[in-house]
Amino acid sequence: MPHSEQPSPSAALELLEEGNRRFITGVRSVEPLLSHLKMQELAEIGQRPFAVVLTCSDSRSPAELIFDQGLGDLFVVRVAGNVVAPSLLASIEFATSNFGSPIVLVLGHTKCGAVSATIEHKKEPHVLLPSIHLEELIGRIMPAIEATQRKCAMDTPGFTDKAVIENIRRSCRIIVEQSMIVRDLVATGKLSVQGAILDINTGIVRFLKDESFKSSSDKA
Ligand SMILES: [Zn+2]
Repeated sequence: MPHSEQPSPSAALELLEEGNRRFITGVRSVEPLLSHLKMQELAEIGQRPFAVVLTCSDSRSPAELIFDQGLGDLFVVRVAGNVVAPSLLASIEFATSNFGSPIVLVLGHTKCGAVSATIEHKKEPHVLLPSIHLEELIGRIMPAIEATQRKCAMDTPGFTDKAVIENIRRSCRIIVEQSMIVRDLVATGKLSVQGAILDINTGIVRFLKDESFKSSSDKA
């Protein structure tokens, strides 16, 4: 992709979809493999990532690999449970306003440990958490667990993955609600905010079409 241009939000989404198709079929494009050749150029002219990905720190969820992208393509914000806290939102705002990245993808994954830990804490709230830091993180995921609980009981099969999806949706909403920078970019059609879930068994990323924030002029 030419350095000076950014794709439309829907074209950026397609790039991610195509990249994931390559990943799951084992067909890697050459560009990521030749990333080292781009290092000097990117250092000199600067980065212009076409997507911002807020994803879990889980080692099975590396955005560049599962979307088959190379150096300079993705601006990745990683935190356990793909939650939105002020410094993470600032990172998203930094990328979207400075590089014109046209999509923010919130990527959660099946069997998420952070979501599972929050469910466990909900079941046994009397068990003390090992640190105030974990407490803070779990506090950010808890509303998604409670929202899922209002739809189905915690012992329902698949509850964890339902909660993962709720947590992704919640992060998408928080990004749009709390960031005026993001909201303005979405309103002018320059940015979309999209949720997706990675199946860590298969590597398949399912895009949550019902949880996307985009201008009506950009048809994804
Ligand atoms: Zn996780």
